[in-house]
Amino acid sequence: MSKNTYKKIVILTGAGLSAESGLHTFRDKDGIWAKYDYREVATPEGYQRNPSLVLDFYNERRRQSAGVKPNAAHGALARLEAEYPGLVLTVTQNIDPLHEAAGSKQLIHMHGEIAKALCSACGGRHAIGGEDITVSSACPACGMPSTLRPDVVWFGEMPYRMDEIYRALTTCDLFLSIGTSGTVYPAANFVLEAAASGAHTVELNLEPSERYGGFREAIHGPATEIVPAYVDRLLRAARG
Ligand code: NAD
Repeated sequence: MSKNTYKKIVILTGAGLSAESGLHTFRDKDGIWAKYDYREVATPEGYQRNPSLVLDFYNERRRQSAGVKPNAAHGALARLEAEYPGLVLTVTQNIDPLHEAAGSKQLIHMHGEIAKALCSACGGRHAIGGEDITVSSACPACGMPSTLRPDVVWFGEMPYRMDEIYRALTTCDLFLSIGTSGTVYPAANFVLEAAASGAHTVELNLEPSERYGGFREAIHGPATEIVPAYVDRLLRAARG
């Protein structure tokens, strides 16, 4: 291990990482929130008001995710995890399955996974691949009808595995934020947590994000170009 090796890297990813795979981001000009009101489709209250609308919104997302492939940026992050001499943890806000499809193993889906259903009766999580959930779908574990919802974290709900994430942020020495606008909390504050613990912080994004000023280093451009280049740089430095 060379002296240029970080002991622990935490990588936060967002919708921009999957944009070049063909999945829309949320907040860009042609993003998902330009067509839908998030209060109607991505909150517990919206789901209570109109479950069919919400289930259809995620059924459509699930069909789109099932048909896309990881891009060079997902591939580079999986290679970093496999080849880097230090620890590498990826925390994604994305609900698509593209990190794992590229080979990432140390991965936290903090906002859930589109290819899973959550039973509100028994709490079980079930892989459903590209299948639709309807208002009458029954839970494969407890058998209760009409209890399945997408296993995604809605606005106002607590993201998953936050204790583990904060432990990693306070012990990492490099924090990378990739393809995220820095507008959704608590993820938007991760850079502050990592910086307060002394980590070097780097933004890799198409353009300066809302959190841009909080990073020590920033590289702007399409993820499929800047992420593989940055990963190569890290691997070269670690080899001394
Ligand atoms: P966002 O839409 O708010 O921001 C996306 C960011 O990516 C923007 O700053 C944009 O400049 C950047 N970007 C766009 N194209 C890029 C490219 N080719 N290369 C690099 N950067 C690019 O998305 P976010 O910050 O992830 O918002 C968080 C929320 O979005 C999360 O709740 C997440 O669950 C949800 N989301 C997930 C998906 C997915 O799973 N693929 C898709 C849309 C939204």
